[in-house]
Amino acid sequence: MEKQTKKAVITGIYGQDGSYLCEILSKLGYLVYGITKENLSKNSQKIKKYLENKNICPIVYNTDLNNLEELQKLLIEINPDEIYHLAAFHNSSENTKDENKSAILNEKLLYDYNTKSTSNILYIATEFLKSKVVIAGSCLMFDDSSTNIQNENTPFCSKSLYGLAKISEYELAQYYRKKGAHVSCAILYNHESSRRADDFVTKKIVKNLVKIKKGEINNFTLGNTDVKKDWGYAKDYAYAMYLMTQQNTSDNYVLSTGQLHSIKDIINICANFLKIDNVYSCINIDNSIIGRKINKTLIGDYNYAKEKLGFKHSLNFNDIIELMIKNELNGGLE
Ligand code: NDP
Repeated sequence: MEKQTKKAVITGIYGQDGSYLCEILSKLGYLVYGITKENLSKNSQKIKKYLENKNICPIVYNTDLNNLEELQKLLIEINPDEIYHLAAFHNSSENTKDENKSAILNEKLLYDYNTKSTSNILYIATEFLKSKVVIAGSCLMFDDSSTNIQNENTPFCSKSLYGLAKISEYELAQYYRKKGAHVSCAILYNHESSRRADDFVTKKIVKNLVKIKKGEINNFTLGNTDVKKDWGYAKDYAYAMYLMTQQNTSDNYVLSTGQLHSIKDIINICANFLKIDNVYSCINIDNSIIGRKINKTLIGDYNYAKEKLGFKHSLNFNDIIELMIKNELNGGLE
């Protein structure tokens, strides 16, 4: 009997993780469907074009994930084997004070939208389909936690509406799993690549230091450069999400590196690679940049994902930043 082509739906397909998953699944022979929105950001438009140029052409719908009726009709029609729900509103921590003001105003909308879209997807997948689902959690579900290194058993504690929305989405996943759904939650620590939007700190530094190297600008501004984060490579995290749907049972998995690096480390790697002397003389520090509104240093313990899924890292921190620089220099999005 002929093997049936597997079908996968990716929401947020033109985002960083969605686009890597699209490439991974297309290579594996899946028929890939995407759900996106109108008025895509510049970054998502760039990724869309990049996929098209590589001849990776998923079937994409502009569908409002908050419109249960419309979404239900579409998903039942596609009847996917797997759904990866990655679309979400989120803010870079490098927003300026003023931008943050509007971001805060929008945070309630962010909470409502993100939670409702996840609720809709899990409801449809459980009641009408047999799809295996992955939803995207975040380390910010621990952003007010007193535990130094977090794993799947660490109690959630968040003081941000983004974190609280992710916690409620996680709880919805547990609820539908108890009802028989195959739904896994990826508890994602920061992960980076050349596909990051320009206002995220890794990309902001890489982009601006490349401009400085080319003589296009003389300086740029950052917030607190001592902040440390647990940064991994986005493509590895996307592949781990695929591995989650290949398991017999669904579960929750921390995806992280367990290592911390500072913003200064990023600057130093770039300066070294690009051979920029006195790099700190090109950087203005503006403490009003809110970036550091989450003061907690978050480190993930990914041992469970390593043992159960075989999750591993193909690039170390240095490699990730160098890959981002090379792509910035040649206009690529690898
Ligand atoms: P991106 O912002 O790169 O991708 C998200 C994509 O979803 C973008 O194309 C965005 O479009 C789109 N999108 C946003 N809202 C909607 C909507 N309502 N309907 C349809 N599409 C929408 O994020 P990542 O790929 O980096 O992240 C994937 C998921 O992982 C997200 O849920 C995020 O919250 C979570 N996460 C990511 C982390 C990271 O370090 N990358 C860390 C922790 C969690 P547009 O660009 O126009 O907004």
